[in-house]
Amino acid sequence: MANAANNTNEKLNPIAVQITDMNKWYGEFNVLKNINLTVKRGERIVICGPSGSGKSTMIRCINRLEEHQKGSIVVDGIELTNDLKRIDEVRREVGMVFQHFNLFPHLTVLENCTLAPIWVRKMSKADATEKAMHFLKRVKIPEQANKYPGQLSGGQQQRVAIARALCMNPKIMLFDEPTSALDPEMVKEVLDTMVGLANDGMTMLCVTHEMGFARQVADRVIFMDAGQIVEMNEPNTFFSNPQHERTKLFLSQIL
Ligand code: ADP
Ligand code: MG
Repeated sequence: MANAANNTNEKLNPIAVQITDMNKWYGEFNVLKNINLTVKRGERIVICGPSGSGKSTMIRCINRLEEHQKGSIVVDGIELTNDLKRIDEVRREVGMVFQHFNLFPHLTVLENCTLAPIWVRKMSKADATEKAMHFLKRVKIPEQANKYPGQLSGGQQQRVAIARALCMNPKIMLFDEPTSALDPEMVKEVLDTMVGLANDGMTMLCVTHEMGFARQVADRVIFMDAGQIVEMNEPNTFFSNPQHERTKLFLSQIL
């Protein structure tokens, strides 16, 4: 059972995400087929697989940026249905970082970080600013606070995106290929930030082909192909002894 001694307001659900027999269609196209996945609190999951295999769609379903049609998705005890209040609740708990940063270009770095805490969490501007500066320090760019996203490098923008997500105190972080749009010299600074988060115990689902990162922090690596979870294992076994031909082929292409 969950630790009942913890009497803060924080719900401590031992299961962060539970996906059961989940299917999604785009029109006639069955893009996700019978997905089953349980992510425990504090677990770090890396998701890999060929382009078009459904990785983005799957993690976008977890915060309802995409809607599934069959089966269930429960995030921290909240089932995702059409109930908009519940969707809002889930989105407040789940931070997401995209390939293309998706920062607001007309807002400063600081304003990008304080916007949602002020408007969604109803935090005071002073508190939101303090929190934003805390996380901008953590991603090692506090000196960029008053610049606009367009004035930063790709790696810096992605670290702002991570800081922005953290300002909402998420219980779960979703990453969709956060380094794949970056120049090679900037990949490490973003991965280092993610490793830091992982070491702090954040529950993370990361779509990435950075297999060094997977080896370093993942509790489990998932391989997806054609809308299915083909294989799931802890990294040592996953890399040294993949079970399925499709996994072997994929690994031979990227490693
Ligand atoms: P991945 O992230 O693994 O590259 P995606 O989840 O983006 O894969 O896409 C999975 C499949 O769904 C692909 O065949 C893609 O073309 C298709 N797809 C993605 N988004 C849409 C959409 N909005 N409408 C129709 N098909 C889509
Ligand atoms: Mg994708």
